[in-house]
Amino acid sequence: MSNVLIIEDNERNAYLARFLLEKRGCVVYEARDGLSGIEVARELLPDLVVLDIQLPEMDGYEVARRLRRIDELGKTPIVAVTSHAMPGDREKALAAGCNGYVEKPIEPLRFADQVLGLLAPPDPPHTGRS
Ligand code: MN
Repeated sequence: MSNVLIIEDNERNAYLARFLLEKRGCVVYEARDGLSGIEVARELLPDLVVLDIQLPEMDGYEVARRLRRIDELGKTPIVAVTSHAMPGDREKALAAGCNGYVEKPIEPLRFADQVLGLLAPPDPPHTGRS
């Protein structure tokens, strides 16, 4: 079971992402802007962050850079979600510290796989041999 933080200012987008991830057993938290998202992330230390790039005040690139500067969040998977789909957006997201990139509108049938694919696989079961 994974804790996922969704940082997304659009309530309907957040609702859909939450629905799709909860269906896969995730526990979902939400923030509506970058600063509160960073605060929640710092407290919660989520297993994964779904990060809208078009946010008010502080954009998602800056949020990703700030998350990466927090020791405990240095390796937390961050998935950027953006509707820009401009050439270079993907590279920009990765350069800011994101691990993955999903274009809006999100595809309900694929979204959870796209996002959860970035989680580290669970440890293999212990064989008891070593
Ligand atoms: Mn937005």
